[in-house]
Amino acid sequence: MERTINSKMVLVTGGTGYIGSHTAVELINAGYEVVIVDNLSNSDITSLDGVERITGHRPTFVEADCCDRDAMRRLFESYNFDSVIHFAAFKAVGESVAEPMKYYRNNMLSILTILEFMCEYGRHNILFSSSATVYGDADKLPVTELTPRKPATSPYGNTKQMAEDILRDTVAANSSLRGIALRYFNPIGAHPSAHIGELPRGVPNNLVPYITQTAAGIRECLSIFGDDYPTPDGSCLRDYIDVVDLARAHVVAIERMTSGRCKCPYEVFNVGTGNPVSVMELVRGFEQANGIKLNYKIAPRRAGDVAAVWADTTLANEELGWHAERELSDTLRSAWLWERTIRGLK
Ligand code: NAD
Ligand code: UDP
Repeated sequence: MERTINSKMVLVTGGTGYIGSHTAVELINAGYEVVIVDNLSNSDITSLDGVERITGHRPTFVEADCCDRDAMRRLFESYNFDSVIHFAAFKAVGESVAEPMKYYRNNMLSILTILEFMCEYGRHNILFSSSATVYGDADKLPVTELTPRKPATSPYGNTKQMAEDILRDTVAANSSLRGIALRYFNPIGAHPSAHIGELPRGVPNNLVPYITQTAAGIRECLSIFGDDYPTPDGSCLRDYIDVVDLARAHVVAIERMTSGRCKCPYEVFNVGTGNPVSVMELVRGFEQANGIKLNYKIAPRRAGDVAAVWADTTLANEELGWHAERELSDTLRSAWLWERTIRGLK
């Protein structure tokens, strides 16, 4: 039977997760039909309820592992999406150091399997979730897409570098395939409706969920890891990007590929704000935005942290026509509203 590929249908792997669910909302709002595949290893099916409450549409959901070839074949047989956004991966840096095989197996096999079936089934566009971690401890800041990648400092970072290379080489070898890697800086916040947000399991590794859990009384005290870095206030500098702004970047990148506007078959874009913010500034910003005093202390540096990294976003601004729009204070309010909502706090 002749298959009609649907350019308005997008497969979102890892779509019940934090960034995937926000991206599903923006895709649906932009008129795309969304098919989500997720094995729920780090997310909850209830995020689909949130997406539905915000958009009025419930994405099609397939519970499956992207490394499972039989399941992926059934998926490609069943749905005629032309584009894939590949979020599905494990993402905890510390855990990747303790259990490298788990990370290499999941993060590499999932992208290999997806790419293999995209080639076999003649699907054209893939957007990959990369990370600022590929830059490591960069010599020059802010980093541009041409800043040389440094050797990865964790198995997780290694999987992002290797997946970028696999994508680049596969696109180069298949004239019908286009790929974009988005290098996310530090995604934070939640949808302003508080219907979807981040649901970290156990003790959060990331700064903002740790802050909101401390504010909610779930954690006693936030540790600020290091105040002796060569930065203006001694704490690390990062580029915190609102998750809804980040989600919008996926929509414009998909539109770039589906409308044939890519300048070359494989492209890379930084997705950040371009503004360095220190840990202490972020903590103060959270306190001011929400009228809360946080319990925090200075703690030793955390192994593997770089002193500073932030994005030069010129390429995304000019080529994608995308800009980070939300104010940091609004983002920090959304994070706290989400935490209160899931904890049932006033
Ligand atoms: P998340 O854990 O909330 O979402 C990932 C989703 O993928 C989860 O729902 C999980 O259940 C699913 N998943 C994992 N392995 C799977 C598999 N083999 N098959 C099917 N589903 C699978 O994480 P997130 O924060 O939304 O991150 C999404 C992507 O963005 C990841 O690739 C991550 O590495 C990348 N990224 C995240 C950040 C960040 O700070 N959140 C920064 C840079 C890059
Ligand atoms: N951080 C901190 N306390 C925490 C968690 C994080 O001081 O409990 C700091 C961390 O050292 C880094 C910044 O916050 O400088 C952002 O860390 P996160 O883990 O959120 O993201 P990363 O930049 O490591 O990907």
